Amino acid sequence: MDHTHCYAAMSIPTALIGIAILSCLMSVAVLGSLFHTQVPGIRHWCVASGLLAVTATLLIFRRSDAVVVGASVLLVVASLLAVQGFRRFFHRRPAVIWEYGALGAILVGLVYWTYVSPDVSARGAMISGFLAYIRFAIAWLVQRYRPAGRPKYGYHFVSIAAVLGAVIHAVRCVVYGFGIAHETTFLEETPLNVAFLGMAILTLPCLSVGMVMLAHDRLAERMERLATIDDLTGVLGRRAFIARTEALFELAKAAKSKLSIAILDIDNFKGINDRYGHAAGDQALAHVALTISSEIRQTDVLGRIGGEEFALLLPLTGKEEAARLTNRLRAIVAASVSRAPAGDVACTLSAGVDEFGDDDTVASVMARADTALYVAKDKGRNCVVLAGSSQPSDDIVSGLPA
Ligand code: GH3
Ligand code: MG
Ligand code: MG
Repeated sequence: MDHTHCYAAMSIPTALIGIAILSCLMSVAVLGSLFHTQVPGIRHWCVASGLLAVTATLLIFRRSDAVVVGASVLLVVASLLAVQGFRRFFHRRPAVIWEYGALGAILVGLVYWTYVSPDVSARGAMISGFLAYIRFAIAWLVQRYRPAGRPKYGYHFVSIAAVLGAVIHAVRCVVYGFGIAHETTFLEETPLNVAFLGMAILTLPCLSVGMVMLAHDRLAERMERLATIDDLTGVLGRRAFIARTEALFELAKAAKSKLSIAILDIDNFKGINDRYGHAAGDQALAHVALTISSEIRQTDVLGRIGGEEFALLLPLTGKEEAARLTNRLRAIVAASVSRAPAGDVACTLSAGVDEFGDDDTVASVMARADTALYVAKDKGRNCVVLAGSSQPSDDIVSGLPA
């Protein structure tokens, strides 16, 4: 009859599904607008949201057996795509083989409980069980691979939305799976069903807002990287190095701990460019930065403060020790080569070293270290000079391994 039809179209499950369609379409639009950023996982999330919108639309118009089976398959596939998007986002292998096996088993189960031995509860329990697993997997992935040193907010937001969804589906799975409640027709308008549906649908927009938060954090991370890291060498650029130095100097003053700095400049670099070409010069620069980075302690900070000039900040280190460490780096760089088409490029470094005093500013210490660097150049290059000294510090460190 006509008016029963009309009533069905306006039932609460239908209204909830309508909300789901809208929110999924909005997620498609927002995630789609982020396609060009090439953040891994976005395409999968976007397609998953689109599939969910299709699924929900199918259910609004028809709830015949075939449509319900089709919609259930789409729902499961969309969930798989979503979790694979998260795996891509975190640079993990996207596919987990047994999940495809589960997809096959679900297909068999759907056909069996729809056509062979119709059982709406069993079907619902199975789908909810799988969705619960997917949402727990998402929450686990996000917590496990959350990048250190990034704001936690977005990651926790996604995890909480995923866990909430997981719990709702797990409860639904248990309630129908163990026969605590029964569903005789699909999406029957019982209070329990309406509650499950409403809560499950509410967690969807939360999840997609969370996806956007993660994508945004990845973009912010890229921008921060661009602003702080020198492209060619992968170490801190001048501005970021100075900022880090200011911060560590304040900490050192507060803790009354030692802090030293070395300024290192590649010797006769103009000549290297002239002889091997600018590209080989670039390669040599990257080689020197990599060599030093791999030899310093985790707490040391390396920056490229000029064309072929680096600065090294050494926390908890007095100036003699800093000169010794810098001299060791100098020797390692001098003994290494960077390979270029025109032959092996060997470069040497000269360095000036000094320690921060209480009355210092970053600029004043750097100026003294710079003056010491000039003395090192003056004394014939490929050596380290401690500020205030007129001799290369090999003299202080003689007897110590280079
Ligand atoms: P010194 O031993 O006195 O330091 O001599 P130098 O030739 O290293 O010093 P100078 O300051 O005269 O020249 C530095 C050279 O470094 C000039 C410049 O072309 C080169 N340079 C600066 N930045 C880069 C870069 O990013 N790539 C390359 N290939 N060369 C660079
Ligand atoms: Mg130089
Ligand atoms: Mg220079």
